[in-house]
Amino acid sequence: MSAEVQGAGPDATGSQSRTFEADVAKLLQLMVHSVYSDKDVFLRELISNAADACEKLRYESLSNPALLGDEQKASIRITLDPDVSRVAVEDNGIGMSSEEMIEALGTIARSGTKAFVERLESAAQQAESSQLIGQFGVGFYSTFMVADKVEVFSRRAGSDVASLWSSDGKGSYSVAAVALEEAPARGTRVVLHLMEDAKSYAESFTIEQMIKAHSGHVPVPILLADKPD
Ligand code: ADP
Ligand code: MG
Repeated sequence: MSAEVQGAGPDATGSQSRTFEADVAKLLQLMVHSVYSDKDVFLRELISNAADACEKLRYESLSNPALLGDEQKASIRITLDPDVSRVAVEDNGIGMSSEEMIEALGTIARSGTKAFVERLESAAQQAESSQLIGQFGVGFYSTFMVADKVEVFSRRAGSDVASLWSSDGKGSYSVAAVALEEAPARGTRVVLHLMEDAKSYAESFTIEQMIKAHSGHVPVPILLADKPD
């Protein structure tokens, strides 16, 4: 479709490009360029978001049991594809609509994160900024320490549409509708396209150790698969 017809709206594929909120761009820039060495945290953050999403679904289903459908049991599935340096973390939790993705993954909604960005900026030394990242926990955006492209496929519980959020973490992201078969039947799949120097995160030995070390307490079963379906 031509730009005249669409105006500033989505392109022919329905994809819409947006810039990150200024504070997010700042956070990404600072994180990627810090000497922070504990890049392992990305997995803990993704698993914790997946478990939160399962808990949110459980809670919402108390007043709306239909949301659970015939998939009642919460689970987190991690799929590794070392041949293409890819890691995917998928949950069957509450999921996100495209509007929720824009809100949750394009802005700094979390209280405390703004203060974190300010402190990170004023941290004189690289070592100090590393410590700050460790203290605050950097959530979803930590994925950009190990991935040069992150895709989030999601379908909200009870919804008959699915969306894809995608970004290289360099200032903008896009959101588009996707075919239902590309997204989880319910919930969210985060796909990391790993950087050259982060390839080992697609190996099961590495990931198994990280799950044991940092996500042992997670109340949702974590399944690890070596190859995508
Ligand atoms: P926090 O978990 O502290 O809120 P994050 O940066 O880790 O911060 O995540 C930001 C937000 O993105 C979450 O609050 C949630 O709304 C949304 N989100 C991230 N991952 C998922 C997921 N797997 N399922 C549903 N929502 C998610
Ligand atoms: Mg989180």
